[in-house]
Amino acid sequence: MVIGSAVSTAVPLVDLSPAMSELPQEVFEVCSDILRSGNFIGGAFVERFETDWAGYCGRRYAVGVANGTDAIELTLRALGIGAGDEVIVPTNTFIATAEAVSRAGATPVFCDVDDDTLLMTPRSVAEVVTARTVAVIAVHLYGQPCDMDALTAFADSAGLALIEDAAQAHGAAWRRRKVGGWGAASCFSFYPTKNLGAAGDAGAVTTDDFWLASRIRALGNHGRSTHDGNCHEVLGGNSRLDALQAAVLLAKLPFLDDWTRRRNRVVGQYRARLGGLPEVRFSQPLPMAACAYHLNVIRVPERDLVRRHLAERGIATGIHYPVPCHLQPAISGSSSLPVAETAARELLSLPLFPHLDVASIDYICDAVEEAVLATG
Ligand SMILES: *Cc1c(COP(=O)(O)O)cnc(C)c1O
Repeated sequence: MVIGSAVSTAVPLVDLSPAMSELPQEVFEVCSDILRSGNFIGGAFVERFETDWAGYCGRRYAVGVANGTDAIELTLRALGIGAGDEVIVPTNTFIATAEAVSRAGATPVFCDVDDDTLLMTPRSVAEVVTARTVAVIAVHLYGQPCDMDALTAFADSAGLALIEDAAQAHGAAWRRRKVGGWGAASCFSFYPTKNLGAAGDAGAVTTDDFWLASRIRALGNHGRSTHDGNCHEVLGGNSRLDALQAAVLLAKLPFLDDWTRRRNRVVGQYRARLGGLPEVRFSQPLPMAACAYHLNVIRVPERDLVRRHLAERGIATGIHYPVPCHLQPAISGSSSLPVAETAARELLSLPLFPHLDVASIDYICDAVEEAVLATG
């Protein structure tokens, strides 16, 4: 699967095929065994992946769900968050974070982001807290962890639930403790292009709270009681991880740390080449953050011109995200959040995947340099 390949793309934004080729042959055999067995929903592969993923994140429990958006929605519902409640979300995030809050019946309230990290901070959160605020969703955007010590202290002192949206940050850590291990619960997407991706849609929630894990599991399985499958204790829905996705995730998990190192090395190579250009800004990770870069985001004032120049050279780029959530038509009535609004006009995502080679990185950096000189 190649993302962002236009007519004659020399370098795609993401290319998943080299990572798939690294997987041992057994995974394809395991998938064909599953197809022959007819055991598609739940079962041993799902249980094994849940155990391994919880262990990887340093948590007691992981609950597989259908996708990352459901992971957030079900976590909020399981925490009893709904109508009348406000949940604080950074405006610079994928719309799914806000969508999940609305689908749970609560109101997303957007906070601005820090100009250096493009992440929420306790200060930006404090600016939008009201008497109705019940939770904060810390989004580790682009694979950069938020300051989890400061956010934990803030949430504890204000009596708010802290939830991680770690959909872009599998394997990242704050002060040696992995993301997925902070707050009341942590939500992951395994959409194919994420740092750990399935062969379709998949997601999970990690937590140390047995009751919360059980409730999320019940809500994702039609509110079924664990003792009696015909007894529906709460009205839930359908959001389950299936055996084929779990088998693919289990096969890829042993490669995650190596792929993360490669992603981070690619970003380091971009920084070494472009960091000296006064027109190009990279976001600055916080001192305690061990990033697991998902996107390689730069800021350039003449973004659209640079983007066009790269496209002419067959280089695919992305913008994450061109319109901050609080300005999306689906969302009404938010005040101005100036840092995110300015950043949105300058953000540009350059190709990033673990197997992106040095020659391609050089080719891309040459094109960025040319573009910046031409526009400067
Ligand atoms: C991908 C993503 C999600 C949603 O995940 P899906 O599996 O696509 O539903 C949520 N939050 C962020 C930050 C994401 O990048």
